[in-house]
Amino acid sequence: MTPADCPDDACFPTHECGVFAVFGHPNAAALTYYGLFALQHRGQESAGIVTANEPGSPFKVHKAMGLVGQVFNQQILESLQGQRAIGHTRYSTTGSSNITNAQPMLANGVRGQIAIAHNGNLINAGELRDELETRGSLFQTTNDSEVLLHLLAQPSGANHAAESRSALGALRRARGAFTLVIMSEREIIGVRDPFGFRPLVLGKLEGAWVLASETCAFDLIHAEFVREIAPGEVVIIDENGPRSEWPFRQEKKAFCIFEYVYFARPDSFIDDINVAAARTRMGRELARLHPVEADIVVPVPDSGNYAALGFSEELSIPFAHAFVRNHYIGRTFLAPSQLIRDFNVRIKLNLIKEMVRDKRVVVVDDSIVRGTTARARVTNLREAGAKEVHMRVSCPPHRFACHYGIDFPDPEDLLANQLSLSKICDYLGADSIGYLDTDSLVRATELPKENFCLACFNGNYPVPVDPNLDKYIMERRHGRANTLVVADEHPSLFESLK
Ligand code: AMP
Repeated sequence: MTPADCPDDACFPTHECGVFAVFGHPNAAALTYYGLFALQHRGQESAGIVTANEPGSPFKVHKAMGLVGQVFNQQILESLQGQRAIGHTRYSTTGSSNITNAQPMLANGVRGQIAIAHNGNLINAGELRDELETRGSLFQTTNDSEVLLHLLAQPSGANHAAESRSALGALRRARGAFTLVIMSEREIIGVRDPFGFRPLVLGKLEGAWVLASETCAFDLIHAEFVREIAPGEVVIIDENGPRSEWPFRQEKKAFCIFEYVYFARPDSFIDDINVAAARTRMGRELARLHPVEADIVVPVPDSGNYAALGFSEELSIPFAHAFVRNHYIGRTFLAPSQLIRDFNVRIKLNLIKEMVRDKRVVVVDDSIVRGTTARARVTNLREAGAKEVHMRVSCPPHRFACHYGIDFPDPEDLLANQLSLSKICDYLGADSIGYLDTDSLVRATELPKENFCLACFNGNYPVPVDPNLDKYIMERRHGRANTLVVADEHPSLFESLK
C-alpha cells in the first residue's frame, strides 16, 4: 500500500522525532521548551510537553501542531508546573498532519499515569496492536507510539511475577527502532532499543538530570553532557539519581548512519564524534573518490554545507556560498504533493548568479532521494550561466526503504532505483555525477562499520520486516475510545526484573 491509497490523512504517521526530558528541576517545562527548540530540526509538525510534580498529582500537558516557538508561550509554560517533564517534537511526513498523532501520549493504567515520547518506528506495531485490541485496548490514534503506551500501561500478562509488575517486561515485546522518554508517577525513564537505531544522551544541570535526542539540546541550556544511553539500556531516574536496567537480549549495534549524513544537527556529538566534522570528512572522501577540475565548490544549503567544505579543502577549490537559503520555510519533505514539493524546493533557495556565471561548478548535497532538489539546483546553476555543473553526493545512492524511522518514499520512487548512474546524470542535467560509497562513508565517521545500520543503501535490515505484519495494516484502523483505569497506588513503573 502506498500513501496514495490511504483513505485518511491520519495514515502513515512515522517517527523522525526529537525527545527531551528533565528530572528534578523547578523550571522543568521551560528547560524542555528550550531542549525541544534545539531539537526542532528533528521534527517540525507538532510539539508537546507533559509535566508532573509529586506522585498522584495529575500530569499537565500541552501539545499542538506547529513549531516549538509557535506551540508554547510564557503563559502556557507557566501553567506547566512540575519538577519533571518530557517533551517531543514530531516530524511531518507523507500527508499525515494530525493533532491526534502529536506526542507525548498519555494514559492512565494499572501502574498510574504514564506519558511517553517516541523516536523511531516499530516493525511489529500491527501485530502488537491486534493483540492489545483483542485483550480490550481501545486505540485513539493510528500511531505505533500508542502501542508502546498501551504495552506500558497494562500488566504484561506474563506469568513471571516480577515481569508482570514491571513495565520493563512489556518493552521486550517491541521490535524495531524505539528511543523513548517516559514519565511515570515517580520517575523519568530513557530507553534505547537494543540495536540503538536512534540517539539518546544523558546530561546534568544544577542537580537535575536531563535526557535528549542530541547533545545540541544540552548546549543551549548549559547542561553538562554525562554520557550516551547505550543500545539496550533503560535508564531510570528518580530521587536517588539514574540507575540502569538491561531488559533486552543483546543485539549487534545498528546506529542509523543517516543521522551523521543528514538528520542530526552539525553541532551535536554522537558516539564522541562531532557530526559537522564527520560530514566534512565525507566531503574529503568524496573528493578523493570523484575528483573533478572546477573553479568553485557550491553547497546545497544547509544539508550540503560541511561536505562541500571538505570537498573544497581536499581539492583546494574555492568554496562559494552561492545559494542563499530562506530559513523561514520548513523542509521540502513537508509537502504532500509533487507539485507543492517542487514549489518548496524553488522557494527555499535563491542563487547569487554572479558567483557562478562562466564558472565550472561542483555542487554538493548530502543525499539524493527522489532527485527533486538536485535537479532544481543544477537547473538554477545552468540558468545562471555556469559553464559546467558537476553533482557530488556525500552518501551512497538510496535504494531501500527505511523501516526504522527515516522518512524515505517507497523504494520504487527513489531515483537510484529508477535510473542508471548515467541516466541520473542526464536527468539532473549535470556534466558528471559522483556518490560516496559505503566504505568511504563509514570511514568518514571514524567508527567501525559493524556499528551501523546501512539498510537504506544495502538492503541489509538489522531487524527483518515481515510484510504480513506491515505497519500500514494497522494504520488503516481508527480506534476512537480510550482505556482509562484510575490507579490507587504508585509503584515504581520500572521495578527491576531481577
Ligand atoms: P530529493 O529532493 O527527493 O532528492 O531529496 C533530497 C534532499 O532532501 C536533500 O537535499 C536532502 O538533504 C534532503 N533529505 C534527504 N532525506 C530526507 C528526509 N528523510 N527528510 C527530509 N529531507 C531529506
